[in-house]
Amino acid sequence: MTLDQAIRLKADLLIKGMKFTDEALTTVGQGGLEKVFWVFEMTPSTHKGTGDGTRPLPNDMLLPYGLYADVRYSPTSPYTVHTSGDSVVLILDGKELCEVKWPIRPDFYDRMTRSGERMKKVSSMRGDCGLRVCFDNACNYFATKEQCKFCNIVPARQRNRDHVVTRKEADDIYDCVKDAIIDNPICTHLAMTAGAAKDDGLGNLPQILEGLKPLLAEKYFPIVAAITATRNKEETEYLCNTGISSVAFNLEIWDEELFKVICPGKTRRVGRDRWIESLKEARDLLKPARALSSFVVGLEPKESVLEGIDYLSSEGIFPIMSPFVPMVGTEYEGKEAPSTEWIWDVHEKATDIIYKNLPDAFCDEIWDGDIGICPSCTTTKLFFDFMRRVVPRENPKREVSPGSVEAFV
Ligand code: SF4
Repeated sequence: MTLDQAIRLKADLLIKGMKFTDEALTTVGQGGLEKVFWVFEMTPSTHKGTGDGTRPLPNDMLLPYGLYADVRYSPTSPYTVHTSGDSVVLILDGKELCEVKWPIRPDFYDRMTRSGERMKKVSSMRGDCGLRVCFDNACNYFATKEQCKFCNIVPARQRNRDHVVTRKEADDIYDCVKDAIIDNPICTHLAMTAGAAKDDGLGNLPQILEGLKPLLAEKYFPIVAAITATRNKEETEYLCNTGISSVAFNLEIWDEELFKVICPGKTRRVGRDRWIESLKEARDLLKPARALSSFVVGLEPKESVLEGIDYLSSEGIFPIMSPFVPMVGTEYEGKEAPSTEWIWDVHEKATDIIYKNLPDAFCDEIWDGDIGICPSCTTTKLFFDFMRRVVPRENPKREVSPGSVEAFV
């Protein structure tokens, strides 16, 4: 299998999902890292056993060339995961494609925070290196029925409420970060996100970031805050001076009219112009290519998303991409997903544009996680894999967690 074939396989798995035999799941949650729907339930179908925790799915699947793919259950997928001897294998049309592996489950999942919460309910791990915290699994746009049409943060929280604390305490987040990054380093960088706050501001993020400052002073680790755009320049300045390495104010859709339709809350409560302005403010305050904006690709014409990527990257803002998934519980549940070919073409063209406009995005530091995410933990996004086609290199190897990249099958 070539690198291009492995990336194409990952893209196809993200779009079409996969199904499992029971044998393939025996070690998941028993040494293999199980899935936690820490923010969205990023799957077209629910899997009995994930919601009630009796039969967890794996979180990520390690493919050839060190590519991690998000595991998305789909009973109609042509892909099946099964066992073959002592291995777990991916099968398409009766033919074994490759062996797959799960990352190792980290010990901190079973430890408790000071308030008595299981750490897994406060933070989770992606790939073999990325710590994730959704500090508030609510979004004010749902209250006014102005949520983004592809989003299921609230229904996902309701379905998985036994597994995830909705609003996390700053002290509990501190305890998880201290454990997973400082004391027993299994993770090297932190991504934090939340839905829109009630007052459209930063919610409880300042309290959390103030709490993390002593840890940052002890040992630097990159943090990305993926939140709604700020209300004003003072808020951007505060955020960018807390010690975080990057922000992600995700515009999602470039076309102005479609943005209004697909993201009504972002349109009415913030507005497209203010959104772009806040990205430019962050760009001026952070290191190059540390102001990010993600697009959901597959909901607007190719030309318009590429126009947005060209504009933002030429302004020094790093546009990243995530293929559209018609997720359960969203207004777009059941909608047709883009084809793998379409996704491939957009990613290929977008990566060339970003390389031309913003070569800083391809630097070693960013590749290794200095934007709070890296090729091993952005398992839902393909853009790093396409960057690797432009600037050839291996996926990062984690010295802090040598065992975590091994198979547990
Ligand atoms: S802002 Fe949009 S994408 Fe983000 S949580 Fe709210 S509805 Fe979902």
